[in-house]
Amino acid sequence: MSMAAERLDAVHGAVRQAARDVDREPDDVALIAVSKTVAADGIRPVLDAGQRLFGENYVQESQAKWPALREAYPDVELHFVGPLQSNKAADAVALFDVVHSVDRSSVAAALARARDKLGRVPRLICQVNTGREAQKGGVLPEAADAFLAECRQRYELAIEGLMCVPPFDQAPSPHFALLGTIARRNGLATLSMGMSADFAAAIQLGATHVRIGTAIFGERAKPAA
Ligand SMILES: *Cc1c(COP(=O)(O)O)cnc(C)c1O
Repeated sequence: MSMAAERLDAVHGAVRQAARDVDREPDDVALIAVSKTVAADGIRPVLDAGQRLFGENYVQESQAKWPALREAYPDVELHFVGPLQSNKAADAVALFDVVHSVDRSSVAAALARARDKLGRVPRLICQVNTGREAQKGGVLPEAADAFLAECRQRYELAIEGLMCVPPFDQAPSPHFALLGTIARRNGLATLSMGMSADFAAAIQLGATHVRIGTAIFGERAKPAA
């Protein structure tokens, strides 16, 4: 077994255990393996081990890797979890099954245009910037309700849930709790929250999708400073 496949096994077990620990059904928490920066050769063993949900952050990198992998593994479900630029929206709509980073009007408008042109639309999740970080994507918490209404009414986009990435130097649970509160008052069922370091806390607070990279694929090469 490859190192990544062994790690996948351990992560899968830990995710299911975290659900059982809080009396949740383990099958109600989907594990997305975040394979950004991992080459196709590094992804294949994880596919061979049975993993089918994958997350990526970069449209161009995904266009280079996934069409060939998908031919070999047609039942893959591809999630876009990175920041989305309007000028990449059509490419994202063409390639991805789920987009987790809908966060502003210009992106919603671009997704709606791509839907009208391509006749398909991914499942959509709205990113919320719960930590109000300038460098991070996401609608601010107090603007989320209005943005969700705008997606629905003006762009006729069905948003199925919310996503957040808590500030890395803060306790994540208050951010997960806030995301759950916003989702509940908007009637949204999907909560995409929890990464390698904090998935158990996210599952405790209702995560339906955890996005895990490092714990499966190992440390990513850091870009030169
Ligand atoms: C990279 C990334 C992940 C995975 O993070 P790890 O800490 O490696 O598990 C999850 N979500 C998003 C949005 C990411 O950019």
